[in-house]
Amino acid sequence: MTRPGSLVVLQIILLLLGHFSPKALLGSPLLERGPRVVFDAHVDPVGRLQAWNAGLADIYPSNQVDIAKWKTGGVNIVWVAIWVNPRRYAGREAFEHAKTLIDYIEQDIRRNRDSLSLCRSADECLAACEKGKIAILLGLEGGEPLLGSPAMVDYFARRGIRRITLTWRGDLEWVGSSQEWNQLPVHKPKGITETGIEIIRRMNQHGIVVDLSHVSIRAATEAIEASRKPCIFSHSNAFTLCPHPRNVPDDLLVQLREKGGVIGINFHSEYLVKSRARIWPTKLASASIDDVVRHIDYVRTIAGIDHIGIGSDWEGDIKPAQGLEDASRLPRLWDALRRKGYSEQDIDKIAGLNFLRVLRANEN
Ligand SMILES: [Zn+2]
Repeated sequence: MTRPGSLVVLQIILLLLGHFSPKALLGSPLLERGPRVVFDAHVDPVGRLQAWNAGLADIYPSNQVDIAKWKTGGVNIVWVAIWVNPRRYAGREAFEHAKTLIDYIEQDIRRNRDSLSLCRSADECLAACEKGKIAILLGLEGGEPLLGSPAMVDYFARRGIRRITLTWRGDLEWVGSSQEWNQLPVHKPKGITETGIEIIRRMNQHGIVVDLSHVSIRAATEAIEASRKPCIFSHSNAFTLCPHPRNVPDDLLVQLREKGGVIGINFHSEYLVKSRARIWPTKLASASIDDVVRHIDYVRTIAGIDHIGIGSDWEGDIKPAQGLEDASRLPRLWDALRRKGYSEQDIDKIAGLNFLRVLRANEN
């Protein structure tokens, strides 16, 4: 745990090193034209903020998202992941740590209430945007804190969780994951059990969106079948373009479309471009904005324009595509799509309207 004093020192050092440029806050000409709603369906800063005793207004190591960067990038709805590392917290401890992280981010949102607003519905998000604030939605990434109990969904619904990514790495008793902890590029076979189906039913009742990023192909197929509401892949890409177990094969994209769901395109180089250097992420070559556009384009041909969004995965230990290093750079993606012939209406859908529609469709 780092004390607030050392954080201040760190911020001064970063300022001196030029990591933070006040110029970045002055707004970019790209902001003059851009989507009105920009909804990033997956960012992962909470664990890191808690470890550094920092907040979303602070500068901290890596720093791919913060309030200033969201404002510069025109981002105004963000789905923040509550992720509990299952290697560190097992059983009841996973539940307790999820509570700690929710408390922590709630407190930080209260501290920054002039800029941030904790939201539970599509209407609340839009109301926050109208006031010029950034709407924060909470999502649980990995079902470990549910402790295998459908009743636990009720608790997390009360705490404001609006989506649950059923797994992270490694199977749970009730649902299969796409990967082992060591990230071996092998698709895992486990599906979803009766308990898993019951958990999905509870999520549907509470308007909590079923998120299938990280989930095995078989479990995702069964979950979309079981869910009465549209599901999402909050941060995954097209398997056909980049055959990685974290990505989604064509038939699943079609199934997602038929139930009205959305996939959020992930900016992590490893999920964008097939790479041989996957042992150490540091050796992984960066993908480009064009690779992100390639995935968007491909998903459009399979699932259609109404089923694509963005789920950057910033702060999720990723190597971002070049040009999309942090949230302030997002307008570059809209410009790349314009160059590719996408209309403003198409870009509005990808930037946020599609995810907003799914959030609303899940509400009772
Ligand atoms: Zn993830």
